[in-house]
Amino acid sequence: METRPPIIVVMGHVDHGKTTLLDYIRKTNIAGKEAGGITQSIGAYEISHDGKRVTFIDTPGHEAFSKMRARGAQVADLAILVVAADDGVKAQTKDALLHIQKEGIPFIVAINKIDKPEANIEKTKQELGKANILLEGFGGNISWQAISAKTGKGVDELLDLILLAAELEELKYDPAGQTKGLILLVKSDPRRGIVASVIVRNGQLAVGQMITTASVSGKVKMLKDFLGSNVKSLKPSAPALILGFKDLPQVGEEFFAGRDRESLDTVQGAVQVTAQSSASEVKEPSIQDKVKRLKVVLKADEGGSLETLEDLVKKISDQLPLTIVGSSVGDIYESDIKLAMTSDAVIIGFQVKMDKTAETLSRTRSVTIITSPIIYELEKEIKEYGQLDHPDQNRQIEILAVFGKRKGKQQVVGGRVVDGVIKNKESFEIWRDEENIGQGKILNLQSKKKDINQAEADKEVGLFVESSI
Ligand code: GDP
Repeated sequence: METRPPIIVVMGHVDHGKTTLLDYIRKTNIAGKEAGGITQSIGAYEISHDGKRVTFIDTPGHEAFSKMRARGAQVADLAILVVAADDGVKAQTKDALLHIQKEGIPFIVAINKIDKPEANIEKTKQELGKANILLEGFGGNISWQAISAKTGKGVDELLDLILLAAELEELKYDPAGQTKGLILLVKSDPRRGIVASVIVRNGQLAVGQMITTASVSGKVKMLKDFLGSNVKSLKPSAPALILGFKDLPQVGEEFFAGRDRESLDTVQGAVQVTAQSSASEVKEPSIQDKVKRLKVVLKADEGGSLETLEDLVKKISDQLPLTIVGSSVGDIYESDIKLAMTSDAVIIGFQVKMDKTAETLSRTRSVTIITSPIIYELEKEIKEYGQLDHPDQNRQIEILAVFGKRKGKQQVVGGRVVDGVIKNKESFEIWRDEENIGQGKILNLQSKKKDINQAEADKEVGLFVESSI
């Protein structure tokens, strides 16, 4: 495994300075002559800071970001949440925070516009605190930097923080693994045909490779880096422009590339299953479904075993409804764990190993992983898991009170079990008015001030929880 540069997304309320910041970073961190070569944005660019590469997604707003999430794909490794010091925390600041939390990625706060006379950094920090964004030095551990995207003050320090946070994430890729990435932007050019902006996430993308997504396929006829120069190949985290798709791929789709068509055909089969299941995911998130359906991310060592695993899932689905939110060939990596986290799924691995970073992340974020080299053992384990943690009933706690102050992500709440049996240490989803607004985990469950392991319907309980909101 080799280290790859971090991919950063900039988010925040309208007019707080996202575009100005992205422009400033691009202008000042790409060597002069080269920067002149950028005639048109391809949705992302790459800079070098302290000799290290960083990729920025410069797609305005979080529209593209949301589209990717809707397909279960994760594009960014880190987010910068921009808050203007003369305006403070606004609706879209909170909305951006929600997106970041759903994505399960770390973020850094940039308090912007500090050159303005009306800028009030202290007040902004207080507002951030009220919105549960607890900054370093203010009762929390979220890194932050005061900046002016206009004059550039503090931007270097912000880039230092980004590199530091990226190092902690230990971002890796497999140079010999399956080449894959995400479609960022697509357009049809009368002269050049279909032009797709992408970000490479694994392997190595090269001219001449066959390329496929869930909806279309083609061959990489021409490859350009983000400066518009022709290149032979590109490594992960690099933004790229691909010419050679036969039809328009969809924004947010994952692509796979390789030398021979056969291996890609199996991947194509796999991505189609994924695309269908994630499309239906977006449509009908009723509480009933959320609670009853067990979501799974499938991993297998090669195309044939992935098919076997998919067949198994279809077979089990007769008794235990399963939804496939992801399915791919290869060992279990961090990206798989993150996909499982954002979609609240269980990972099922057939004849695969797990990467170290993925293992650590799965443990800290309590992601369930079921692996075995033997198919009938997998069947047994999936069924056991399904019965154990997802009994055929609607399990809910109605929250009646929130006690004391929230510390980081942790707080104490009181509630009543509406239905089913709730167990200590379980993960949960938070719903308000038919809308899923967050998730978390029970750290301790109490009844009448005594620790308990489970609580039945109608029981009033005290919960110590860790949650995203
Ligand atoms: P976005 O909607 O978040 O992309 O915000 P923009 O980058 O378009 O910025 C909105 C406005 O704020 C523009 O007029 C910018 O020139 C201005 N602006 C952005 N950053 C700064 C800053 O650091 N200082 C000052 N004085 N103005 C800024």
